[in-house]
Amino acid sequence: MEHLLSAGDEVTVIDNLSTGRLENLRDVIGHRNFRFIEGDILDKAAVDKAVAGANRVFHLAAAVGVNLIVEHPLESLRTNIHGTEVVLDSVLANGASLLLASTSEIYGKNTADSLNEDADRILGSALKSRWTYAAAKGIDEAFAHAYWREFGLEVAIVRLFNTVGPRQTGRYGMVVPRLIRQALAGEPLTVYGDGRQTRCFSYVGDIVPAITRISEVPSAYGQAFNLGGSYEISILTLAERIIELLGSESDIRFVPYEEAYAEGYEDMRRRVPDNGKARQLVGFDPKTTLDQIIRNVAADQRSETQAGGRLKVSMAGN
Ligand code: UDP
Repeated sequence: MEHLLSAGDEVTVIDNLSTGRLENLRDVIGHRNFRFIEGDILDKAAVDKAVAGANRVFHLAAAVGVNLIVEHPLESLRTNIHGTEVVLDSVLANGASLLLASTSEIYGKNTADSLNEDADRILGSALKSRWTYAAAKGIDEAFAHAYWREFGLEVAIVRLFNTVGPRQTGRYGMVVPRLIRQALAGEPLTVYGDGRQTRCFSYVGDIVPAITRISEVPSAYGQAFNLGGSYEISILTLAERIIELLGSESDIRFVPYEEAYAEGYEDMRRRVPDNGKARQLVGFDPKTTLDQIIRNVAADQRSETQAGGRLKVSMAGN
């Protein structure tokens, strides 16, 4: 939002605030070019209202977070499949272009050294709820691609790999904000399994400009682009780094998967993006280091805690 508003765009956001918080929009609420609609993407009238008059739409509304998906598979399937259909129809009817946010989850258990956009998808059982997210997002991509082929809808797809940054909650999974919160609170950092599974974390501040640029390039229509970090790290090393960087007294607690998640969870051992296609199209070159990401997320969590503390003090004073 900040990125688009500072470029002079008018921005309308629709969000049902199921996992997001209005507080996250504190810097843009009140901006003369910003409008917020509290609504659900399953509600066609609300989506039409948000899309009317727009020339570009960014579809980022989805049920995300492994905890949420594993515990509420039905909600995740409905929002991610039917919700996307509603958005596609509305965008088409309004003559706008669309940027669809997809996910590295769709590659599933493919542990290739570098996943390019044509890599095979290796999914587990359809009855394991972890995979319903990957399945739903795969359907979303297929829908978008079919709207492009059959109706000429101007739609590009980005596959996001573990995007993290300030204002992200760890409540629904998301290891980076979770471990940082634990480290700041002096609680043990919960590392699931043996901690040797790896990820490539990317910073929201690198991803947003790339998404915006991709949405402006007509040759991106009908295609998908990976957007991920360039540094692979194990979750155990991540936990150690967080403790060290934040000077935390916390230790590390290994938690077996059966204890960490509801039934239907399966982990991915490794997930490494090939960002070559986005680099070629829009010069995507994520520069923020993992240390910087950790510092920024920690600073944001500290300021949230302080703001919460101040609020309590002033309420007590009233
Ligand atoms: N994870 C962990 N401790 C936590 C939360 C997650 O060790 O408190 C692990 C999780 O099992 C996975 C990795 O961190 O191996 C990344 O998890 P996340 O949910 O952030 O993203 P995803 O699994 O979608 O890559």
